[in-house]
Amino acid sequence: MRPSILDPLFAPATSLPGVGPKVGKLLDTLLGKGDGGARVVDLLFHLPTGTIDRRRRAKIAEAPLDQIVTIEADVVEHRAAPPRSRAPYKVLVEDETGDVLLVFFLANPAWIQKSLPVGARRFISGKLELWDGHRQMVHPDRVVDADGLATMPLVEPVYGLTEGLAPRALAKMIAGARARLPELPDWLADSRTKPPALPRFSEALEILHHPPDPEAIAPTAPARLRLAFDELLAHQLALALTRAHLRRTAGRSSKGDGARSGAIRAGSPFALTAAQENAVAEIRADLTAPVRMLRLLQGDVGSGKTIVALLAMTEVVEAGRQAALMAPTEVLARQHFESLQKYAAPAKLNLALLTGRDSSAERGRTLAALAEGTIDIVIGTHALFQESVAFRDLGLAVVDEQHRFGVHQRLALGAKGDGADILVMTATPIPRTLVLTYFGDMDVSTLREKPPGRQPIETRALPLERIGDVVARLQSAIAQGARAYWICPLVAGSEALDVAAVEERYAALKQIFGPQAGLVHGKMKGAERDTAMAAFAKGETKVLVATTVIEVGVDVPEASIIVVEHAERFGLAQLHQLRGRVGRGQAKSTCLLLYKAPLGEIAKSRIEIMRDTEDGFRIAEEDLRLRGGGDVLGTQQSGLPGFRLAQLDVHADLLKLARAEAQAIVATNPRLEGAQGKALLVLLHLFEREAAVKLLQAG
Ligand code: ADP
Ligand code: MG
Repeated sequence: MRPSILDPLFAPATSLPGVGPKVGKLLDTLLGKGDGGARVVDLLFHLPTGTIDRRRRAKIAEAPLDQIVTIEADVVEHRAAPPRSRAPYKVLVEDETGDVLLVFFLANPAWIQKSLPVGARRFISGKLELWDGHRQMVHPDRVVDADGLATMPLVEPVYGLTEGLAPRALAKMIAGARARLPELPDWLADSRTKPPALPRFSEALEILHHPPDPEAIAPTAPARLRLAFDELLAHQLALALTRAHLRRTAGRSSKGDGARSGAIRAGSPFALTAAQENAVAEIRADLTAPVRMLRLLQGDVGSGKTIVALLAMTEVVEAGRQAALMAPTEVLARQHFESLQKYAAPAKLNLALLTGRDSSAERGRTLAALAEGTIDIVIGTHALFQESVAFRDLGLAVVDEQHRFGVHQRLALGAKGDGADILVMTATPIPRTLVLTYFGDMDVSTLREKPPGRQPIETRALPLERIGDVVARLQSAIAQGARAYWICPLVAGSEALDVAAVEERYAALKQIFGPQAGLVHGKMKGAERDTAMAAFAKGETKVLVATTVIEVGVDVPEASIIVVEHAERFGLAQLHQLRGRVGRGQAKSTCLLLYKAPLGEIAKSRIEIMRDTEDGFRIAEEDLRLRGGGDVLGTQQSGLPGFRLAQLDVHADLLKLARAEAQAIVATNPRLEGAQGKALLVLLHLFEREAAVKLLQAG
């Protein structure tokens, strides 16, 4: 349960004064996280991207042109525009050195007369310019009297916006959010690792939203460091608690006799690569040791993780236990099931598939067989960790593409076995600097080298205007038997609009390819999507128009072309994942990146890197460099915990400190007791890492 002190922060943004349903929608677009609407805390964590400095005061004659300046002047006269003219409304103001015309286009005269009455003294902030030899200021940013000046932020924060949301309205809402910030206990009061001279959490927010000077909001300024540290600590603490929870249950040793794994190896058409052998050995060492394995197996798409996982599961089966493999989607679960069945056939393993779509009779049979232990290996979706699923003796849980799951779910499967070992597989190459961030102190096995015999993928970038050429080229390739993906981006932030865009492209391509064109997107029903995928896999359709639903894991070796429309809208990690859909078979593969010119600097670099290399780890490092870590793994798409306040390129040192702090806390106060514990619970909830809190309660 969330500490009630945080309730005001997790109230919807629409609970703030002046935030109606319409503005609320805009805030959802700007700050909401897909499923939920924007909350007060989201406004607080929406930090300024820059400032406008209004501290410069000057006499009119000495004021610099074309820079923000604040002048103090008396209102001399109003020059209203003649009725029905389009001329601006002008107001002449002066000080002892000179005068300025304030110019208002499409003005509201009543407002001007009220805020600039003749004879009054006003403080006016904006940019001065020369027009016809006379000083003027078009639409001053601020017009205030002496009282107003006292409350006007002289260093005004500038925030990221969304269309339809006015800067000042947003600033007001953020001020409203600040007023809701309760006095929170300081979770760093006893900290030994916190860098000295950092403000408290609430002070830091105050400084950032009301900066005393422009430097105060720099990523390396104390206020930013404090918030980054807090966020990193929450994350590291969640990981450390999770780890401690898992370690609390003693592991068991699963040692096989090698008979069935021998049969699998003997039946396999290929020999394992050195990297695969190495990973198998590392995993075996964990499995046979009486400690609980918590290992990450990372390897780019196509690096051959499946057989490594199978050999691990087989070891456990040989030891008389069961294994489970959990995939993020039905499609992937099915694919795993099929390829594992092929590999496992010579070993006479009993495999079963369990998904949310089984009929209740099927499901009942599978559950009974799992409980009896006649099923050796079960493959499924999150249906696997529902309460009704019980194993006779689960020895190993393999979680594929785990970044689609939350830490909590990952553990729920592990909890089905008494000290079950856990192997997490990810196809997202994670830069070494980030493994710790995301996975805490999990052990890691990496498949960096790919199986032999892969042909390089030709990657080309073309402006969207050449789409006609691309379609023509596709036509001739398809006539020769090729199969292609055509990827449309998620753009609008509205799923309905995205789907509309995909459907439009599909309609256009259907004109050309007729029934050979297929369509798959996230809004389709699971069964419908499977049918579309299956038709493509069987070659009934040859061009599959898709959104990024095909991003992860889908395996159609015959597909040799991938077209990515609006490639500039994808992150590097995502482009890399998409490209990994091809180059899986015998044919030479091509990846065509269609972009909308002109390309921005970052988009250009991304496309260059894509053309340069296929090494996912290098791409991940470059992605980190380009994006500054915030969204390095395509967290939007992947569901990995993203950081909102910490920037890993800038705050990497803090990460180490936060990790040390988290470890110290778990060592000395593993149940988060006392005042410090209470404060840390607030921290975990504040940054929404409560899955770890649940584990504390689970004991
Ligand atoms: P991943 O799950 O890492 O994306 P897979 O396990 O699906 O990769 O393997 C990709 C392809 O490579 C599969 O067709 C698989 O049969 C093949 N493969 C795996 N290991 C080897 C190997 N050592 N030599 C040759 N081919 C291999
Ligand atoms: Mg795989």
